[in-house]
Amino acid sequence: MSQTLLDWYMSVPRRCVLCESTHSASMILSPYFGAVIFRCLDCGFTQTEPVAEEVMRRYYTAKYVKADEPEMIWQRQQFARVQTGLVLERFRPSPGSRALDYGSAGYELPRQLAAHFAEVVACDIAGGADPGVPGIRLTSIEDVDRERPFDLVVLSHVLEHVADPFALLTRIHEMLVMDGVLYLEVPNEAEHVKIGLMGKGHVWFFDPHTLRAFVERHGGFDFTFLRTDGASVDEYAKAVVEKNCAIFDFERVGSPDGVWIRAFLRKRAGRPVRSRLTTDAESLLRQLSSTLYFCNERRNGRA
Ligand SMILES: [Zn+2]
Repeated sequence: MSQTLLDWYMSVPRRCVLCESTHSASMILSPYFGAVIFRCLDCGFTQTEPVAEEVMRRYYTAKYVKADEPEMIWQRQQFARVQTGLVLERFRPSPGSRALDYGSAGYELPRQLAAHFAEVVACDIAGGADPGVPGIRLTSIEDVDRERPFDLVVLSHVLEHVADPFALLTRIHEMLVMDGVLYLEVPNEAEHVKIGLMGKGHVWFFDPHTLRAFVERHGGFDFTFLRTDGASVDEYAKAVVEKNCAIFDFERVGSPDGVWIRAFLRKRAGRPVRSRLTTDAESLLRQLSSTLYFCNERRNGRA
């Protein structure tokens, strides 16, 4: 039986962004970007091969539609309520404390945090109308770096979406005061990718182990807390297959292998070690040419 070009393309080695190993296993093509999703066989990180910034921008401005049905708004409120509780448990705001919610779809979390901080700044790639709540100020993803440093930054369900997660952590590092705190939340979905389940537009697929390895590789932060909450990864997968919507178990915290990874990190002094990925045009071309080379080599070898 002859292999298709896609099989050859899938089978070539990919380089892990975390440990640089090329010992990889391709899984599927990303339904969002067409790029190969693979798992590093050395460190276990599940990732998408490099996607150009232009491609990501195009996807997020043209295709990524924010759902805002009443059901969704209610879910966001519940989600934000639990997150706010956890933030106040782990971070005690002083009278002048300022917080940033980076990627605050719907502005529900800033609204709930506003009562506890001197000022909450919110920004999202989709822009959005001013919520008209005292204590909340909107800015843009581009302008947020010009703000005075924050005491707390919230990065909830954002890191898994961006082209360069190392660069985003570096920006956050620069936006924080000395000893500033980052509340980081990502889905625990590395296992889900194996059965073809993944969040819309996700590029990086974490589990608690690879999230720790990722932050350690970046080198700008120390973990002070990490926990998984919500339904377990297995229960969630089963519920999606059975189309059971009752799976958003907001109150369930500290569940083993829960679908939400929630972490608090403290800013480390000094520059991050790995401040950015090198997914510029030149490195993408290099990646493409090596992929084509291996494809060709395999095709000739099996002809
Ligand atoms: Zn690796």
